[in-house]
Amino acid sequence: MAVSRRQFMKVSAAGLAASSVGALGFIGAGEGLAAGVRPYRLEKATETRNTCPYCAVACGVLVYSATDGTKDAKPKVIHIEGDSDNPINRGTLCPRGAASLGFMHSPNRLQYPMHRKPGSDKFERVTWDFAMERIAKLAKEDRDKNFVAKNRDGVTVNRWLTTGFFAGSSCSNEAGYLTYKAIRSTGILALEDQARI
Ligand code: SF4
Repeated sequence: MAVSRRQFMKVSAAGLAASSVGALGFIGAGEGLAAGVRPYRLEKATETRNTCPYCAVACGVLVYSATDGTKDAKPKVIHIEGDSDNPINRGTLCPRGAASLGFMHSPNRLQYPMHRKPGSDKFERVTWDFAMERIAKLAKEDRDKNFVAKNRDGVTVNRWLTTGFFAGSSCSNEAGYLTYKAIRSTGILALEDQARI
């Protein structure tokens, strides 16, 4: 019979409580104690595998979400821990990764594109389509204006120095390779990410 991780935790907790009390001579008390063991709090949560977003180590995390039980309630992330099956971190997380639940629910977390119009003193929420089109338009204008095909000695350099690209460090090798190739093919040299390890 296949036993899930959370079933194993629940059965182990109840079994440990019952056997410990039984070993002390309180025959019969073990069942009562086992019945009083609080239900595993993640028992009804949905488990989702993901990658810590903070740095290039890219530790595996398990994200647990659940609703409050009311009708049509949206699931909320209630717990995040290291993924013990992940070969990179084997269930461990550094303090930053271990605090990622706070990051997820932070009111300061940026969740959608924001735009500050020329002359405005505030950012406003915009659609992804708007953001992508605006970035593409401004990038094209800048590249057309500033692309350098040859240096002053006539050597071909094909570089574009007036725009940079900030990538994510926790993507896969393949995504990182494609990002690097796509950005370098435009002539951009300033390619950076948040990895500092
Ligand atoms: S080392 Fe820490 S910050 Fe980096 S991926 Fe792992 S848990 Fe996240």
